[in-house]
Amino acid sequence: MAKKNTGNGLRCAMCGAVDSASTPVVEIMPGLALCTDCIDYIDKAAQSELSQRESASSKKAPQRRSIPKPKEIKQFLDQYIIGQEEAKKYMSVAVYNHYKRIERLDAGLQDSEDVDIEKSNVILVGPTGTGKTLLAKTIAKLLDVPFTIVDATVLTEAGYVGEDIESLLTRLLQACDYDVKKAERGIVFIDEIDKIARKSDNPSITRDVSGEGVQQGLLKLLEGSTVLVPPNGGRKHPEQKMIPVDTKNILFVCGGAFDGIERKIAARLNTHIVGYGHNSGEAKKQRENLMRYVMPQDLKSFGLIPEIIGRLPVLTALDPLDREALRRILVEPKNAIVRQYQKLFEMDGVELKFTDEALDTIVDKAIEYKLGARGLRSIVESFMVDAMYETPSSDTKTFEVTREYILDKLSQNPGLNQSAGK
Ligand code: ADP
Repeated sequence: MAKKNTGNGLRCAMCGAVDSASTPVVEIMPGLALCTDCIDYIDKAAQSELSQRESASSKKAPQRRSIPKPKEIKQFLDQYIIGQEEAKKYMSVAVYNHYKRIERLDAGLQDSEDVDIEKSNVILVGPTGTGKTLLAKTIAKLLDVPFTIVDATVLTEAGYVGEDIESLLTRLLQACDYDVKKAERGIVFIDEIDKIARKSDNPSITRDVSGEGVQQGLLKLLEGSTVLVPPNGGRKHPEQKMIPVDTKNILFVCGGAFDGIERKIAARLNTHIVGYGHNSGEAKKQRENLMRYVMPQDLKSFGLIPEIIGRLPVLTALDPLDREALRRILVEPKNAIVRQYQKLFEMDGVELKFTDEALDTIVDKAIEYKLGARGLRSIVESFMVDAMYETPSSDTKTFEVTREYILDKLSQNPGLNQSAGK
């Protein structure tokens, strides 16, 4: 330790230098003196060790991708999707588990003797225009993974007119500039899955081109296997170089309206209700909102093959949107139609307002035209076109949309009924 050497100086405990004008020695704590050269040396060594540790931990960081917790996922979904609480909750949990599963695979635990977490593909059942696609799209936005929507009805078994089943992965590849690694973690939304249902519950002896064959083909993708994808979609051509894509970690979300499935659910529930001798208010309530009680066996009665149902373990229903939900959809979501128009007007220095009555009228029209939420935009677009055309060239500073304005504009646009659904 530091020893007093000369009458006026200290000795460095590290190098033994004696305090001098060229090498000052400082007592850094009682009983410990170091020369400034050694202090410098220690400081540099400490800095280098620190930065090495920092860079080692930042290299590990990407593997520890922070997956949002189910509640955070749900909160994010709440910003864009009105209602559909059950579906949002199920979806949040499914997505969270899916990405946890991927994390384990990344950590090299896939071959361990440990519990094997199975894929949590999702099936959303609910009327058209209730937010099924929006749900999948919003999740993809949150996770920043490639996302694509495919329509099950364009898919056919190999050898028939239509697109090969593998081509649905072409779109996913295109969504991420053919980065296969990224695509292998993407989300595919298969719309209208109900349209490839078998026509009857009994397996038919004749081939069912549009239904069962496609379901069998899809099975391979849902299960997780390496498939050869035509880079440009469509049919496989011998001259095309196929891209192998592993679907093991792709999350598949299927959606369908399953028109008439209520009858299957009712049939199943009735047995139950009759069996217990009930005709109570509870039973009545069940019938009123049958979709909520959808079970895998109802999908089977509808014509999905059991293997497909087994590969879509997360089943949830979306509610039909009532008047109140439609009204909220107009104004509340982060990218609500009304907000979008207000932004467009604001960019021209114009404040756009909608009266309460005007909002009610838009909802009335959407219900009248049986267009649901999908129709809200078409309706607003059809009556806003004149205002959008004229205001930028006028001195108007505020523009108020009233019920009368809407009705007047819509009466001049008889084509809305046909065009609004598009
Ligand atoms: P589908 O259930 O047929 O897949 P979509 O998700 O495509 O319906 O909905 C069509 C459009 O309607 C969406 O883009 C969105 O603007 C609106 N929409 C539907 N449901 C909701 C909802 N629950 N909350 C907010 N917007 C919705």
